[in-house]
Amino acid sequence: MLGSRCWKASGLSALVKQVWGPLQGSLPQPQRQCSQHSCTQRGKTPALHPLWTGPVSVPEGTRQSPINIQWRDSIYDPQLGPLRVSYDAASCLYIWNTGYLFQVEFDETAKGSGISGGPLENHYRLKQFHFHWGAADEWGSEHTVDGRAHPAELHLVHWNSVKYQSYKDAVMGENGLAVIGVFLKLGAPHETLQELVDVLPEIKHKDTRVALGPFDPSRLLPACQDYWTYGGSLTTPPLTESVTWIIQKQPIEVAQSQLSAFRALLFSAPGEEEKLMVDNYRLLQPLMDRKVRASFRVAAEGTRS
Ligand SMILES: [Zn+2]
Repeated sequence: MLGSRCWKASGLSALVKQVWGPLQGSLPQPQRQCSQHSCTQRGKTPALHPLWTGPVSVPEGTRQSPINIQWRDSIYDPQLGPLRVSYDAASCLYIWNTGYLFQVEFDETAKGSGISGGPLENHYRLKQFHFHWGAADEWGSEHTVDGRAHPAELHLVHWNSVKYQSYKDAVMGENGLAVIGVFLKLGAPHETLQELVDVLPEIKHKDTRVALGPFDPSRLLPACQDYWTYGGSLTTPPLTESVTWIIQKQPIEVAQSQLSAFRALLFSAPGEEEKLMVDNYRLLQPLMDRKVRASFRVAAEGTRS
């Protein structure tokens, strides 16, 4: 069902993303198309981030993430109801630089702070949210739609608090996690995001953190509730295939200055050689034997630009 708060997809994106070079040898190759514009990235050999120096290959993996979502191949499922989102702003703890991205942590014992409905059979409690982004506006998101990337992607990570005792247990278990993905596109400044951007200078270096809160991340969700969903994995080690992905169709708008603040963070710790925190996303993974379901009528979007 398309409401007035839902809109057509944006063409503001690129076809190819920069990748961590050495990963290409150990993981399935991305099924990403190429254009003349994006091919300017092909000659680059990005440095390997330390996050990926450990075992990152999943030889038997059948449902790895992220993936490219082919709009017309996604299947409308009328059983997919709206996602119910209710977060406890007071359970927000702190924001920190993990050395790979910046992340906002929540008290995982806060009952009732989380999501249910949509494709989920249980209540999933909010644990943390974080972003992935590129060095330039043409790439940065982990998921792509019709081969096109956005400059950044927000992930809200939740764990199945009905089936598991803790987030740690849920990470390794079946139906353990549910992650909402939200694309960021360039546009007007995002007021709620600015509350995070304002503190980023305080967590410039790896392993630095500052207290944050109260903060209700539902204010980072788009107005339109339409989403795609599929079974996948974490996109950082341990890459466990425990994730129900819920990818919002509508991106949120953020200002250039807000993205610039992301890119001013550092992968490095104080005293180390400064390395800008950019291109912190994983390669696209093969869809394999999976279907992407849509909560909205796919054919109705045929006229999008
Ligand atoms: Zn993520």
